[in-house]
Amino acid sequence: MSQFLFDRIVVATHNAGKLREFAELLKPFVKEIVSAGQLGLPSPEETGTTFAENARIKAMAAAKASGSVALADDSGLCIDALGGQPGIFSARWAADGIDKAMQRVQAELGNAKDRSAHFSCVLTLCWPDGRVEFVEGRVDGTIAPAPRGIHGHGYDPVFIPDGYDLTFAEMPEEKKNKISHRGRATQALIERFFVQREK
Ligand code: IMP
Repeated sequence: MSQFLFDRIVVATHNAGKLREFAELLKPFVKEIVSAGQLGLPSPEETGTTFAENARIKAMAAAKASGSVALADDSGLCIDALGGQPGIFSARWAADGIDKAMQRVQAELGNAKDRSAHFSCVLTLCWPDGRVEFVEGRVDGTIAPAPRGIHGHGYDPVFIPDGYDLTFAEMPEEKKNKISHRGRATQALIERFFVQREK
């Protein structure tokens, strides 16, 4: 049986979609869920060199400024033949639109035989006293020869998860969420920090 373990969690985001997604997942365990955006907190600069560092920067800033436990995520697409790029630069590659970013992926891959890639998502929980905890979720797959599908967001049309013939954008969202990097990281977070096990 679960019970509230946290009175309030601040989700370190200014993205209403992300807030909704986390609020839905965490509402059985948390009394009040608000975002850094709703509290008027500034977005810190993401100066880290790893997903974990960037997630920590965001969560720490929100925890210190709000005095509450804060949750942040950082995620991206890592392509083996490109040395892990775009990785932490996934959003920055898409600054001029995701279509341009997906064209860049195809152009940089060229005729590479190895089209393996993975999505990674790090979730960080940070307490106002400085305690920081991380969980990670990952899904392996390959880059499709051309974008396919209309669902999801970001690089979903070019990512085919291992064991499937469909891209993430060809799957219904509930199906993607069950196997995605974010779905797996969230599941790990809930199991580790939000469910109080009966002794
Ligand atoms: P951030 O984690 O909000 O900084 O975003 C990282 C970027 O990675 C997003 O803007 C997307 O371009 C990409 N990305 C992260 N997760 C996914 C996903 O599930 N599907 C497609 N693209 C994603």
